[in-house]
Amino acid sequence: MGKIELLSEEVANKIAAGEVIERPASVVKELVENSIDAGSTRIKVKVEDGGKKLIQVVDDGEGMAAEDAKLAFERHATSKVKEANDLFALRTLGFRGEALSSIAAVSRLKLTTKREDSLSGIKLRIVGGAVEKEESCGCQVGTNILVKDLFFNTPVRYKYLRQTSTEIGHISDIINRLSLAYPEISFSLEHNGRQLLETTGNGNLLDVIFNIYGRDVAKDMIKVDYQQDYMKLTGFISKPTTTRSSRKHHSYFVNGRFIKSALMSKAVEEAYHTLLTINRHPIVVLKLKLNPILVDVNVHPTKLKAKFSRGNIVYKVVKDGVIKAIKGSDLIPKLELKEDNKQEDEVKKEPKKQEYQQKNLNLTTEAKKTGSKPNYNQETKQESKEVRAKKIERLFGGIEDSKGEQIQEESSQYNEEDLSLVPIGQIHQSYIIAQGVDGMYVIDQHAAHERVIYQQLLQKYKEEQVKIQELLLPLKLDLTHQEAQLLAEKEEQLAKFGFLLEEFGGNSYLIQGVPVQLYKLDDQELILDTIYKLIEELDFKEEHHFAEQVLIMLSCKAAVKAGTKLSVKEMSSLLADIEEYQVQTCPHGRPVLMHLSQHELEKKFKRK
Ligand code: ADP
Ligand code: MG
Repeated sequence: MGKIELLSEEVANKIAAGEVIERPASVVKELVENSIDAGSTRIKVKVEDGGKKLIQVVDDGEGMAAEDAKLAFERHATSKVKEANDLFALRTLGFRGEALSSIAAVSRLKLTTKREDSLSGIKLRIVGGAVEKEESCGCQVGTNILVKDLFFNTPVRYKYLRQTSTEIGHISDIINRLSLAYPEISFSLEHNGRQLLETTGNGNLLDVIFNIYGRDVAKDMIKVDYQQDYMKLTGFISKPTTTRSSRKHHSYFVNGRFIKSALMSKAVEEAYHTLLTINRHPIVVLKLKLNPILVDVNVHPTKLKAKFSRGNIVYKVVKDGVIKAIKGSDLIPKLELKEDNKQEDEVKKEPKKQEYQQKNLNLTTEAKKTGSKPNYNQETKQESKEVRAKKIERLFGGIEDSKGEQIQEESSQYNEEDLSLVPIGQIHQSYIIAQGVDGMYVIDQHAAHERVIYQQLLQKYKEEQVKIQELLLPLKLDLTHQEAQLLAEKEEQLAKFGFLLEEFGGNSYLIQGVPVQLYKLDDQELILDTIYKLIEELDFKEEHHFAEQVLIMLSCKAAVKAGTKLSVKEMSSLLADIEEYQVQTCPHGRPVLMHLSQHELEKKFKRK
């Protein structure tokens, strides 16, 4: 007897579901794309517990006739493709006819839908792919789909779901992209009763950018409008002064479909060329229209990738379009050079917005000029010796606060005689050689300093006494709606770490104060970067992990880097701290010091 059997419909659907439906965000994507294909003008998405518990999408699209509604849940049921040739000229988002059957196979689903020409609508209840109930109903034109208990019958999948905050993050990304792709549709996203995004649907892309990124990003965008070789490129790109630390905020749309495109990313960054500081990325929303024949979107089940048959032309059009936009815009910030620092001191802590924006501009360009690169060596080259010496002194010593008082730092006082560890010198500007009561020590200066700061911060954090340095001039954070929401939730906890934040309207925040250790670095971009990183962390970590992560990150940033020349005084101060905190390993667990005892020395030199 033969071994081969055809898979049952149920099993086949579950397998297909595994490909299309990875997580709650995939459900949201598929449902909302269906709503878009149905010609909706308003799409409302409601989510509970990151979509693990509930996802609801309500649209005012064309709806489905009763017989279609039932058919729609069969695998390969689609109204969008009739023959194979249609696949080469797709004008809808969906076409595979897999989404509804896949979602229904792994959830408890309710559908209500009605077409304008039908007298009544239809209501279906489907559990694990099987229709359990069907009735006609009086309802509005459009479609309402409620998906509950995703993966209830595929426990392994369920186990792989991440924390609520992570899942809602993915969902929010999807809705952001779709809102950018369709400014003429009004989108709303609600999570656990809270509104995360609402766009007007007025057709203005810049308004959507404002809704997602906030006022300051929106006002600094450059318009792109370019046509070449029968391709049309439109959208917005940020000025080189408005950047982010990752490419996450590059959004590309090809014929209305969001895609991830290394090719387009590369073309954009090539166009900015030297205008960007290293590791900084612009915010990009670009839409490319071309003959659908020239692009294949059917190369991936989730349709996130596309294959261009004229890749080189796409590359050129994107690059030239962006270059033209940058050239045509006024990039030189309108500002006077800072002449008098005292003037700055007089700025009130809560400056009026306009006044603030002016000052903020000063700050960003200043930061650009000093070139705050993540790589310390690069930095050294650009800084004068004096500036550097001051910085290092500040790292170890006390610091003037805004009132001019000296903040007492335990470590700045030392007395050579009290020390058992005495500095002998430094190797490669990275390792300190010291003599101890018994033999010699080699100390990794960065790792050791990092550990010391970590211990200090941890202690202060536990006592809720982290020392905060108020900034003379607050720094501004422009966040996405989702980031702002996360930040709002953690505001109090962040204050415990020493970050004083204040809402600034829209999705913006002002940083009013930072932990003194970070302030000492005297580097605004680094402060901003740290906070952006923190916000990324907020997404994932559990409470105590988060605290630990933050402290490790702060200490790493604040610690003296390898490749920094230290004075004897600075070395002594660090050695004293190492002893006080009995430092053995750095917060990442790497060793901090090596010991060669007197006995070992004598053995090595054959004195014993
Ligand atoms: P596809 O979108 O690839 O066609 P789906 O499984 O997502 O496949 O949907 C199957 C069919 O159900 C669609 O082709 C469409 O006719 C219908 N449909 C799904 N969602 C909606 C909706 N919100 N409004 C109207 N029709 C819909
Ligand atoms: Mg679909």
